Amino acid sequence: MLIQGITRDIMQRIDLQQTAVSYIKQPLCILLMNNIMAEDLLHHKQFPEYTLKKGEQYMSAKQLAHFRAILTSLKAELRDDIDRTVHTMQDEATVFADPNDRASQESDIALELRNRDRERKLIKKIDESLGLIDNEEYGYCESCGIEIGLKRLEARPTATMCIDCKTLEEHREKQIGK
Ligand SMILES: [Zn+2]
Repeated sequence: MLIQGITRDIMQRIDLQQTAVSYIKQPLCILLMNNIMAEDLLHHKQFPEYTLKKGEQYMSAKQLAHFRAILTSLKAELRDDIDRTVHTMQDEATVFADPNDRASQESDIALELRNRDRERKLIKKIDESLGLIDNEEYGYCESCGIEIGLKRLEARPTATMCIDCKTLEEHREKQIGK
């Protein structure tokens, strides 16, 4: 069921992509549309990877500050993008006479709303991660308790599971999906 859902989703996306190409200008939207996690790409420009000092403990205050900065900046970018999308939609809210134009405009809007939904979900995850940083619980697997690891967190700062538990979870989801 999951696989079917994904296939359907991709088909819809291809369909929408064709009508929406001219409409989507925000690079972030394209990333989200292609289901690349925005967080994978956003922060590496501004935030070089954390370099551990000798003998430094895992999730030291400095490391927590590092991830807080990444997550905060990621959140700000997503907020900006949502604002921009809303403005673009308002600017382009033209009523077309041609029903074909109207139909394609409607799918553009549907796509925009889906992207915004993804962005909102990501913001929610970011807020949860920031909460974990506040409580100094950030960086540990919520399932088995081990260190998630700096490398994984750099790539996915909202990760709440170690790679093993995550892989297991994905595997289980696939099993249930069948
Ligand atoms: Zn784990």
